[in-house]
Amino acid sequence: MEISEKLRETKNYINGSFKENTQKIMDITNPATGKVISSLQLSTFKEVDLAVLAAKKAYISWSALTYKERVQVFFKYRSLLEKNIEELSHLIQLENGKIFSEARAEVEKAIELCEFAVSIPQIIQNEVQEVSRGVECRTERKPLGVVASITPFNFPNMVPHWSMPNALVLGNTMIMKPSELVPLSVMRIAELLQEAGLPDGVFNVVNGGVEVVEAICDHPDVKAVSFVGSTKVAKIVYQRATHHLKRCVALGGAKNHLIVLPDANTEMTASNVVASMSGCAGQRCMAASVMVAVDDVQTIIDKMVVEAKKIIPGENVGPVITRQAKERIENYINEAEKNGAKILVDGRNYQVSENPNGYFVGPTIIDYVTPDMSVAKEEIFGPVISIIRTKHIDEALEIENSSLYGNAAAVFTQNGAHAKYIIERASAGMIGVNIGVPVPREPFSFGGWNDSKFGVADITGRSSIEFWTQNKKTTIKWNAEAKTNWMS
Ligand code: NAD
Repeated sequence: MEISEKLRETKNYINGSFKENTQKIMDITNPATGKVISSLQLSTFKEVDLAVLAAKKAYISWSALTYKERVQVFFKYRSLLEKNIEELSHLIQLENGKIFSEARAEVEKAIELCEFAVSIPQIIQNEVQEVSRGVECRTERKPLGVVASITPFNFPNMVPHWSMPNALVLGNTMIMKPSELVPLSVMRIAELLQEAGLPDGVFNVVNGGVEVVEAICDHPDVKAVSFVGSTKVAKIVYQRATHHLKRCVALGGAKNHLIVLPDANTEMTASNVVASMSGCAGQRCMAASVMVAVDDVQTIIDKMVVEAKKIIPGENVGPVITRQAKERIENYINEAEKNGAKILVDGRNYQVSENPNGYFVGPTIIDYVTPDMSVAKEEIFGPVISIIRTKHIDEALEIENSSLYGNAAAVFTQNGAHAKYIIERASAGMIGVNIGVPVPREPFSFGGWNDSKFGVADITGRSSIEFWTQNKKTTIKWNAEAKTNWMS
């Protein structure tokens, strides 16, 4: 797909209209071809301030609507996502590089996230109780005000939907700052929200990098921030936003361990592990990164090699996001090899003949990795899996538990007792049993542990309802009687 004329320049979306670019411009590149496809404005505090002003004004009437009124926009918006799914998927493909089926799955997940948002009026729990004769206490969930969402490059359409539909249905207004590497999808999201009838100023987009994020964290009228990205930046954002006394949930990076026991089903385990490590070119925070092999699982490893060789970059897997990312990933593989690990499948120096300038890395399986190697400890964020061989379940758990991260972990086994043993002891927020990418589906919420998440709430599902609202507690005396008890 060619890029449409209007997306050749990414603009800020403030108060219901796209603004002319006035700031420094950077290039947006298609990672599959290495070609420049668009440009982006690097905004400053000034643009953030304008967006916050618009969102603050829009908040007055948007927050005064009922939940049922607000969800009407999202019923329409959900239909628009469905109607435009092909175009939206192509757009993701253009800016992020992932293959079409993965891009489409991302929009399907965004649709599911909207389905949760429109169910909020049915599931939100406000309480009322007669606490004394004629006296009632009630608790109602009220929005916070202007909130913000900062997103990463790996899911240009889905991650914005982790925060936006719930935050808006709950009555907040929002400033979104997409990754500067993939800003186009959010531009279309803004247009579709407008088409669905969202009032001007309720959703605003400010493009840019560090300066925009800092302005959001510092702005006195931004009440809460959701962040998704690397751990390094999650820490900066969490500290800066909370320093300014905002609510913050900041999701960070990951190093997910899959523990494979000898009784695991060979076919299913091999295909699941390989799909988990290579899908979206390994650029998923839920991707398998370390396989902890317990005892003899050689037949599974052999089968994984067969499965990995079926994955052809440019055909059934896309590129990584930048040239620097490709170099970083290949350096990790070089270093592991230098330190004595064995490369079973090698994705380095991959060339796709029709796209010689694309940033492709093939699936890579590294065996005989030791826990002290950097490929065992650090987030690689590419289609690479490191196999650490162990003798016993407890040794495998020790390795998993020693990770600084804690987004996901999984166990492959047919033994229920062993599965339960690992579920209870793994130090991760999302656990899979015979599932390589254990993403909880709505209404269950998404969020890791340890350095994979900072803040109390999860980012989606029921937990996000608490994050995006505050309780108003009201005590009402309905009768005129006095002194029937101490409270009346
Ligand atoms: P990133 O941290 O580089 O960028 C994320 C956002 O932060 C972007 O919008 C970027 O503009 C901004 N940013 C970058 N540097 C900044 C700085 N110094 N100060 C303030 N803001 C800054 O992440 P990325 O490379 O876009 O995304 C990949 C990372 O995101 C991986 O680590 C991946 O694991 C993580 N991720 C985590 C989850 C999760 O659920 N835990 C989900 C998706 C991605």
